[in-house]
Amino acid sequence: MPAYPLRVLVLRKTKLGETDLILTLLAADGRQVRAVAKGARKPRGKLGARVEPFTVLDVLLHTGRNLEILAEAETVTSHDPLRADYDRTVAGSVVLDVLDKVSVEGQVEPQLFDMALVTLDVMQEATVGSLDLLVAAFLLKALAMHGYRPALEACAACGGRIEGVTSFSIEAGGVVCSGCGRGGVALSEGARDLLRVLMRSRMNEVPAIAVDEPTRAEALRVLRAYVGFHVPARLRALDSYVAAR
Ligand SMILES: [Zn+2]
Repeated sequence: MPAYPLRVLVLRKTKLGETDLILTLLAADGRQVRAVAKGARKPRGKLGARVEPFTVLDVLLHTGRNLEILAEAETVTSHDPLRADYDRTVAGSVVLDVLDKVSVEGQVEPQLFDMALVTLDVMQEATVGSLDLLVAAFLLKALAMHGYRPALEACAACGGRIEGVTSFSIEAGGVVCSGCGRGGVALSEGARDLLRVLMRSRMNEVPAIAVDEPTRAEALRVLRAYVGFHVPARLRALDSYVAAR
């Protein structure tokens, strides 16, 4: 069977046998693809150095029985700065982990790939102090893409007006008024405003948003709970990221 070309982002690599790797990839059309890179862990193997997480590759794949087989890989973007700096690696790993859990084999979603690349591109150049805002913006936009855009203007339950301190209801899918708010997570006005600004900002505008630490941390905690409700998989990188804020 002839090999076919694909542009991919490497999300994860796991060891297979003595010298091989299994790669979890996000394809340009948003599908998840899993492929074996044979001999990638051999010393001086040409493939091994290229198939690192964060790297965007143009690959040639053969269709295998269970997994695809990686035949060739050319680096498009290495995203080296994400690996060179600890804070960037940690923030970028949250993005890769979430992509790993929300992408599905055979399910096309082209916007996901574009949004992932823009996020990683901005993360490798932005100030370290803005990484948590970029993580939060990525979570919001990834959720919105999956049909879970949170209601941040009117009450998610009754559609009523919202003013001042409010609650965020995971089940209702957004902010709720005092009448509907029982059981929700408390949400300060500042954190609600931050979520609204993040939702309407482009990724490259996010680093310039001025907001204090406690408000950022609060927004991240609410988003963590909201993501957890809709993405049932364990999100280890996100959990440790939010716990460290
Ligand atoms: Zn209400």
